[in-house]
Amino acid sequence: MENNLKEKPLNTPHDLIVDILEKSYDNKSKSIRNNAIKNMKFNVPQGQFCCLVGPSGCGKTTLLNLLSGLDENLNGIIKYQDGSIPKDWPIGYMFQEPRLMPWLSVKQNVTIVTQQTSEEIELSENLINEMGLSKYMDSFPSELSGGMQRRVAIARAFVNKPKILLLDEPFISLDETVGNLLRQMLLKLWEQQKTTVIFVTHDLREAIYLSDRILFLSKGPSRIIHDFNININRPRKLNDKELDSLRIELISNHPEILSGKI
Ligand code: ADP
Repeated sequence: MENNLKEKPLNTPHDLIVDILEKSYDNKSKSIRNNAIKNMKFNVPQGQFCCLVGPSGCGKTTLLNLLSGLDENLNGIIKYQDGSIPKDWPIGYMFQEPRLMPWLSVKQNVTIVTQQTSEEIELSENLINEMGLSKYMDSFPSELSGGMQRRVAIARAFVNKPKILLLDEPFISLDETVGNLLRQMLLKLWEQQKTTVIFVTHDLREAIYLSDRILFLSKGPSRIIHDFNININRPRKLNDKELDSLRIELISNHPEILSGKI
């Protein structure tokens, strides 16, 4: 595993440029500002699968909110190489919970985030099929298992062909078999669409399996303490010894990344 401190040159329009000098929140009394991110600078080449790993409360969700444009209150720059900002383009999201609308069918839950053109409806159906849910197009979320609901959420995240897909621990607290199936499905769609992915996780094994690169964040105010490329050929196997030896090497060479002490 190579510590990739040199940034790759940017040469495609939707390479992402992040340069946050500071992101703070006012506390309730407004007398103290809580500094969540300080001096965080990184670029993400278009189509890269990038995992963010860091201790709880370090600022990962804050960073996703800034990347999505949900929160625009920062001192710094987040933009694409062509000068546009992420929210000028389709963005995909996936959270810890599938967040489906209980009163809508599977198909409606996917198409609802589109303009519902015939092309988009066709893509929705294709994605639902890809997720192995063709028999459940007209079912309601309450008729699906938790894993199936997350498959719908994956289809919905890709239906707008997002330039960037933001995932906040989407497979946390799932049993291992279901989680692994969903990871494979996510990778399949990512490979088809070549979307830039920013994936937050606490699970180093998951990060190594999924990503091209892992950024490790310090405890708050958050900054990047390590930037590693994962140079393992794809498709990867979850039980591959190479993945596990990388994990062990990483933890033994850099115990600080999981201790949350920096
Ligand atoms: P993580 O996702 O890594 O667990 P967060 O981004 O949720 O961390 O939080 C980072 C820091 O910012 C924490 O100290 C948290 O208390 C603070 N924070 C997050 N959201 C708000 C908010 N809306 N108002 C005030 N402080 C916040």
